[in-house]
Amino acid sequence: MPSTPPASSHYWIRNAHIPVALLHQPHAAIAAQQTFEGLSCIDIEIREGAIAQVIPAHSQIPADSQVETIDLRQGIVFPCFVDMHTHLDKGHTWGRAPNLQGTFENALTTVETDRQKNWNVEDVYRRMEFGLKCSYAHGTQAIRTHIDSLEGQAIVSLEALKMLQTEWQGRLSLQAVSLLPLESFETSEGEKIADLFAASGGVLGGLVLMNERLDHQLDRVFAMAIDRGLSLDFHTDESGDPEEITLRHVASAAIRHQFTNQIVCGHCCSLAVQPPNEVKKTMDLVKEARIGIVSLPMCNLYLQDRNQQASQHFAQTLSSASPDLMPYPADIPTHTPRWRGVTLLHELRHSGIPVAVASDNCRDPFYGFGDHDMVEVLTQATRIAHFDAPYGDWCRTVTQTPAELMGLSAMAQIGIGLPADLVLFKARHYSELFARPQSDRVVLRQGRAIDRTLPDYADLDDLVQNPT
Ligand SMILES: [Zn+2]
Repeated sequence: MPSTPPASSHYWIRNAHIPVALLHQPHAAIAAQQTFEGLSCIDIEIREGAIAQVIPAHSQIPADSQVETIDLRQGIVFPCFVDMHTHLDKGHTWGRAPNLQGTFENALTTVETDRQKNWNVEDVYRRMEFGLKCSYAHGTQAIRTHIDSLEGQAIVSLEALKMLQTEWQGRLSLQAVSLLPLESFETSEGEKIADLFAASGGVLGGLVLMNERLDHQLDRVFAMAIDRGLSLDFHTDESGDPEEITLRHVASAAIRHQFTNQIVCGHCCSLAVQPPNEVKKTMDLVKEARIGIVSLPMCNLYLQDRNQQASQHFAQTLSSASPDLMPYPADIPTHTPRWRGVTLLHELRHSGIPVAVASDNCRDPFYGFGDHDMVEVLTQATRIAHFDAPYGDWCRTVTQTPAELMGLSAMAQIGIGLPADLVLFKARHYSELFARPQSDRVVLRQGRAIDRTLPDYADLDDLVQNPT
């Protein structure tokens, strides 16, 4: 593992490779010596839990600083991560509620059945706590979670969340967003949910689907958010259907209402299957509305293009053309996914629109894997969405940009006066960082190494062992 920091409150970390894009203050000498990957070797002074100095490596450490040092030998250092789109309330239900078809539609119905049967305060609390333990151990310092909100569920889940916010204070900043179909905001239940999230210091959000009353529904949501001074966070266009343009409708509504708080839209997959002139129309409006986009590459890769119709069509075409061919099985998908499901991250970023990536679902019907590990998210995003040629400032998608979109200014950067909340890797370059899972990383919170032991899956056996 990387050299472990001393227990003292004052020490130096020497020869640390940091992404220059994550420096809080510009530093010409540090920027001047960056590698082609955008990494620069520096020394960092830690004093009383904060970063006291940041200087180019091999500089003369001041004479009065005869304190302990650790040599990272060019190991990479990141600030602690920000995971801005999760579903902690659904998490870790796979054991009792597996999605055996792997489709988005089956995920929706499987979660709903599980919710109605099992989601009481203790169940939600323990599964959320499990997710937070994973997240913290992997080096995350702030999380936003969507909360399924219909039929009184928000009251139950927010009770669990409130306890966790108190218990994790100082370790994890935890934000909650409502999640319900937008049409519900046309009813009194929507109004109650808006009040509930306003009272909880949360964010207003919902699932936006194309329908003929969409603009009216958006007008209701924006009016409620303005009345209550809330920010907004929507699920938009999570499909490969080019006719899905709810992101454009959200942007138009924001401009129509002259909305000034932050708006975030998640997924936006269908933007990637639309013609360039349509994409440009949407991106121009998104930029004007100052909307931030969060992509969920792992979940999109899992759910998008599970195309049962294509399976059947291919099988029928083949069997009618070659009757002697072994028939394709009717009950097993035979379609190989053709597209990656992610939105136009490069084009959005190039247009000056803030883009983040996040972990989304974790071991539930929407995503059967995951561990709320932002190193895995950045690694997979790099592979799926080509964050590597060049690496540039893509490191901001799991740190500075989601922090800014969540209103956590100056979080997830490296700078003088900021808390020494850092993740230390043995990997010296990005190709080493993204090649291994980085299980031996060291996480510092306020300058001290934390216990990185992950929770045991068996801890939840009494809740999730038996399939429904
Ligand atoms: Zn989501």
